[in-house]
Amino acid sequence: MTLLTFAKLAWTLGVVAWFVLRLPFQRKARRAGVADARRRNLREMVLLTISTCGLGVVPAIYASSGFPASLSYAPSPLQVGAGVVVFLAALWLFWRTHSDLGRNWSVTLELRESHKLITTGVYSRVRHPMYSAFFLWALAQALLLPNLVAGLSGFVGFGILYFFRVGEEEAMMREAFGAEYDAYCARTKRVIPFIC
Ligand code: SAH
Repeated sequence: MTLLTFAKLAWTLGVVAWFVLRLPFQRKARRAGVADARRRNLREMVLLTISTCGLGVVPAIYASSGFPASLSYAPSPLQVGAGVVVFLAALWLFWRTHSDLGRNWSVTLELRESHKLITTGVYSRVRHPMYSAFFLWALAQALLLPNLVAGLSGFVGFGILYFFRVGEEEAMMREAFGAEYDAYCARTKRVIPFIC
């Protein structure tokens, strides 16, 4: 197996593992009713589609066909090794965020019935650790796929979702939890502990 084949396989397995990990949490969260779905709108759907293209569709086209070949370069073993380690870290963090958020999780911005504000576990350090995990996926993609378009599309796609969503999400949480959320914001950062 060449290094390139191994790197593409590692990216594919990482993405499959991501969705397999999510399955039991998805089933549990679905059973919890939705109290407020005002923000589940066209804007959200467009953002989710852009993110799916960047983290899934564009890299999958490259991994299966090599397109766009003119923007590919030779990968180094160090880069690929780092990509595997970062994807494993992303998967671990993703699993932790789901186990901490439990039934309060949703794909689109919404509030569950008797929604609880979670401020413990990985949520005690940053307010958006699941988005941190997605950024780690994007970093792993950039390291594992030696192609400028497929490698960087994850950052572009998820970055757009993040920058247009995070303010809305925090406004929704502030509306629901008021001073409790303000206090939580005062002692945490968004995605990187102690930094931002
Ligand atoms: N932004 C968070 C959660 C992503 S899932 C993260 O990156 O970890 C999106 C849903 O999670 C939102 O619809 C919101 O209802 C819920 N949510 C976000 N932060 C939360 C928190 N601290 N406690 C409980 N629910 C939260």
